[in-house]
Amino acid sequence: MASNSSKENAESFLEAAAAVVPLTWCPHLADSVHVQHERFERLDFESTLCRDCDAKGENWLCLGCGEFRCSRYVKEHAVLHGLHSNEPHPLAVSLADLSCWCYVCDDYVDAPEVYDIRNALHKAKFNGEEMPKRTDYGRIVLEMK
Ligand SMILES: [Zn+2]
Ligand SMILES: [Zn+2]
Ligand SMILES: [Zn+2]
Repeated sequence: MASNSSKENAESFLEAAAAVVPLTWCPHLADSVHVQHERFERLDFESTLCRDCDAKGENWLCLGCGEFRCSRYVKEHAVLHGLHSNEPHPLAVSLADLSCWCYVCDDYVDAPEVYDIRNALHKAKFNGEEMPKRTDYGRIVLEMK
């Protein structure tokens, strides 16, 4: 029936939307963000190499120590660092799309605590342009300061 199938469509749309909505808070934000964002405002993305294997390109920036490591599609060094280093550094930002991922929560995180570092990378990548202060799904993130 037509009414059923449009309901199913709406439900599958909502499921797909839910899958990409980032967390607005995670328990690791409080003690896992130690990078000085000013350091990265003029980052040359081409020069960032994976600390463990020298892979170039779309690496991840660890928000605990400011080191770059390769993605799960290269040699997983960012994943291994996020989950298994002696001092866990669970949060990292992708140099590809500037999304923030928590390896422990296994989810995207879009929180005020990571805005400054993502904004610094955004400026480095887009000629000084500020990153909009809203999430991908259009919700305004209130400034904490
Ligand atoms: Zn690597
Ligand atoms: Zn780290
Ligand atoms: Zn987390």
